[in-house]
Amino acid sequence: MTKMKRIGVFTSGGDAPGMNAAIRAVVRAGIFYKKEIIGIYRGYEGMIEGDFVPMEVRSVSNILQRGGTMLKSARSKEFLTKEGRTKAFEQLKKMKIDGLIGIGGDGSFAGMHHLYLEHKMPYVCIPGTIDNDIPGTDFTIGYDTATNTAVNAIDKIRDTALSHNRLFFIEVMGRDSGYIAINSGIAGGAVAIIIPEEETSIEELIEKLDASGSQNKTSSLVIVAEGGKSGSAMEIAKKVQERFSYFDTKVTILGHLQRGGTPTYFDRVLASKMGVAAIEGLEAGQTDVMVGIVHKEVIFNKFDEIMSQPKDIHKDDLRIAKILSI
Ligand code: ATP
Repeated sequence: MTKMKRIGVFTSGGDAPGMNAAIRAVVRAGIFYKKEIIGIYRGYEGMIEGDFVPMEVRSVSNILQRGGTMLKSARSKEFLTKEGRTKAFEQLKKMKIDGLIGIGGDGSFAGMHHLYLEHKMPYVCIPGTIDNDIPGTDFTIGYDTATNTAVNAIDKIRDTALSHNRLFFIEVMGRDSGYIAINSGIAGGAVAIIIPEEETSIEELIEKLDASGSQNKTSSLVIVAEGGKSGSAMEIAKKVQERFSYFDTKVTILGHLQRGGTPTYFDRVLASKMGVAAIEGLEAGQTDVMVGIVHKEVIFNKFDEIMSQPKDIHKDDLRIAKILSI
């Protein structure tokens, strides 16, 4: 057991629905285990500036169901430098913070890892990103909500696509990760799904659309992950429209609406479990790790072990999507 007294909690990188539920869990579990919890505003920016606030049990009342993050999030260029991280460490030392829990994506995890290597600041990272692109956990906080939001939007677009015999290209988030695309595509009945992990040629896509058109489809939806190798939804739609005029072609970019909104029950429970696990892990001496939940079991992943592995898209999901889109 550690003698840690004061733990800092912060959110960093892109915000994700469920981050608030994770903050709440860290604060409440920390207080349960007799720790003082200090909130750090605006991620590493706030850490460098010493923008701290003591958290009480009631500081986190009524945030469980809210999207965004009450501690705000930021990206910090200064923290990418050794000098910036030293400034952040000095602020933590001044505040007598002896452990950190950071909620964010792989970049935020890398930041904590460097702070640990350079200043021996113990930490546990909680994976919070809508992209679900971090190995070592089945799900990251925010992914379920973002995918449900995408599916709701896709259903709405299908109504208008059906009414006008339209072909819609719908761009969803996922710079390097096709998780939202593939699963919203399966759930939304897409005719094709274009993800960053797989090359899809315009010829293949046109063949697919041609085949579905000849089978009397009255509308078609193609889901495109924003980081796809074949280009943006707008670029792909343009190329398809030039060669395939069966449908009237439209593009919708879902964008940041996928980040906001009430977290699903799944993300709230995931965030609650990970928040408690992070406090218990730190208390048990875990450090330089990210908490993950794999097959319902809490695990702690060492930075070096997981950051060297890619999180591959589930191959079977791709197979299912292809079978069902005929
Ligand atoms: P998301 O992918 O959901 O946007 P993220 O945590 O990966 O979340 P990033 O913008 O990559 O988002 O990282 C957040 C912050 O973490 C950066 O602004 C930077 O301050 C810090 N950071 C990222 N990578 C490193 C690194 N290699 N070393 C030190 N700090 C880093």
